[in-house]
Amino acid sequence: VINDATAVVRARAFVRSCGIDSIPVDIEKYLKVANAEVRTSTRLPAGAAGSTISVGNRHFIAINPNDSPERQRFTILHEIAHIVLDLPSKHDDMSGDESLYSYARRPPEEVVCDTFAAECLLPSSFLGPSLKDAVAGFDFIDTIATKFAASLACTASRVAVNAPFACAYALSQNGYVRFAAYSKAMRDSQFWVTPGIAVPAASITGRLLQTGKASASGIVPAHLWTSRDEYVDIDLAEEVRVTSSWNQALTLLWLDSGDAPDMQRSRPSPGRDEEEPLLKELDGVLPWPGRKRKR
Ligand SMILES: [Zn+2]
Repeated sequence: VINDATAVVRARAFVRSCGIDSIPVDIEKYLKVANAEVRTSTRLPAGAAGSTISVGNRHFIAINPNDSPERQRFTILHEIAHIVLDLPSKHDDMSGDESLYSYARRPPEEVVCDTFAAECLLPSSFLGPSLKDAVAGFDFIDTIATKFAASLACTASRVAVNAPFACAYALSQNGYVRFAAYSKAMRDSQFWVTPGIAVPAASITGRLLQTGKASASGIVPAHLWTSRDEYVDIDLAEEVRVTSSWNQALTLLWLDSGDAPDMQRSRPSPGRDEEEPLLKELDGVLPWPGRKRKR
């Protein structure tokens, strides 16, 4: 199976070869090059978004008419990914509870096809310029999702990965984190949310899931979400939306703009700045300004 990075490269080449020149992307252009056509099907098993049958080099994609238009666009592109990347569909392996339980157990072919589909739905060449005046939070992601006719979940993931500031996105289902994505600044600082963990009970997301409300935001200590030592006294802004379908929670985490460069500076490195006052380490006062939390 090809990896995620290769899937992105292949998707960008495919976007170019299809002559995509505006957003929302014209799905028909992709279908034409893939030699595929779409039918809605009421015969898809419950929980299945789509499937493809190939007859010779002609491909018939079945999609679920009960899904939202945004979800249908993603499903078509996921199926096109199977065709273009010549990856067999493993949909049968992830039916029912199995597919709902663990993202980690999702076959790698499926993850790669999702990556390909997301790149086709929100192409980097159009997303990049749209992110120039990006601000953290779901209000901004809503506007991008509308602009690209994409789902909130897919858009949040794409915006997080390409954001010009430090932020992370986590998707949880039935109370467990199933997927996480990070901006470059967040990756560089090695902020990781471990896939498969239970949603931290004290986080905004954890508290929201107990109330049954649809959205919330607030400030939380970063250690709720990551075990990375350098984050122990850092606070994060957290905003969450719960989707009605599939019992999913979408969580955005970000640093205040003032905190990000300080994170960078605090990282120990062989070439550390001689002028950085060492006193801070000796007297136990952490070298991060801004909100501190005594625990
Ligand atoms: Zn698939």
